[in-house]
Amino acid sequence: MKSISKLMACAAVIVSMHSAAAAKDLVVGVSWSNFQEERWKTDEAAIKAALEASGDKYISADAQSSAAKQLTDIESLISQGANALIVLAQDSDAIGPAIEKAVAEGIPVVGYDRLIENPDAFYITFDNKEVGRMQAREVFKVKPEGNYVFIKGSSSDPNADFLFAGQMEVLKEAVDAGKIKNVGEAYTDGWKPEIAQKNMEQFLTANDNKVDAVVASNDGTAGGAVAALDAQGLAGSVPVSGQDADKAALNRVALGTQTVSVWKDSRELGKRAAEIAVELAGGKKMTEIEGVTSFNGGPKGVAMQSVFLAPLPITKDNLNVVIDAGWISKDEACQGV
Ligand code: BGC
Repeated sequence: MKSISKLMACAAVIVSMHSAAAAKDLVVGVSWSNFQEERWKTDEAAIKAALEASGDKYISADAQSSAAKQLTDIESLISQGANALIVLAQDSDAIGPAIEKAVAEGIPVVGYDRLIENPDAFYITFDNKEVGRMQAREVFKVKPEGNYVFIKGSSSDPNADFLFAGQMEVLKEAVDAGKIKNVGEAYTDGWKPEIAQKNMEQFLTANDNKVDAVVASNDGTAGGAVAALDAQGLAGSVPVSGQDADKAALNRVALGTQTVSVWKDSRELGKRAAEIAVELAGGKKMTEIEGVTSFNGGPKGVAMQSVFLAPLPITKDNLNVVIDAGWISKDEACQGV
């Protein structure tokens, strides 16, 4: 049955925006961890656009999910003359030596989206614990009791544990009261959808398909979980969370096979990161960055100068928000509805 909200979303219009900063002719090197995922292409476009607007140069490398390659990528960005680095870490620990090298050479480093726990690096991200809370809240609204499965992120990414902490914070009371039972919990190596699917298949088998809710930590892993549910005829009757507002996920939200995605406007994250990289390379102190706050919630408790952006949960009821923001077209979101 088509809800009114879905139809309203499908009738929405598109708006978008842009702005510029002063030219400095700096080189900003961006080290990506795993460029094959949809969201990073949006982040990249935003970083490129901001650097173009300020008259600075973008260079980049993609580690293709290899922590070892990312170490050499960073060295190569430095030798290509990077004045600042933006790093999306594949592995928060393994990246350490490359970050120390950059810092020793006086090159500012912006840890992008994922925490790099070095006090000399800047940290810009969305509030990941809040993303986890949003995921759990929406799933819990649909299934306030029953067997829950947790499809977590990559164990080498601190975001995986921030998300899980937020999810558990919301569900703790119901877990303690015995209303919710954790019947399966697994990290997803490299956030790979096929691994999430395999884990979900195993949880379904182990529980004779008696799984009532799935808290998946991003849209890629949600896609894997939904595929496993679909194979058992359960897609659409078991709530599933995600994040990133990937196109396929928003379409699943419209179709009812995914309950929620959390939208993190990475156009804004990319723009801010590029601006901050340029400011730091120009001599601005980390403590002088607009909106800066001190964060020490990482595994080692290191105090980091940070900027946090706000996430927004997207369900069937507010799908129009991402359409109105020009994030996805009405046709893409509502395909097959
Ligand atoms: C990001 C997510 C992304 C995931 C997989 C996380 O660190 O915060 O947005 O889906 O990595 O790349």
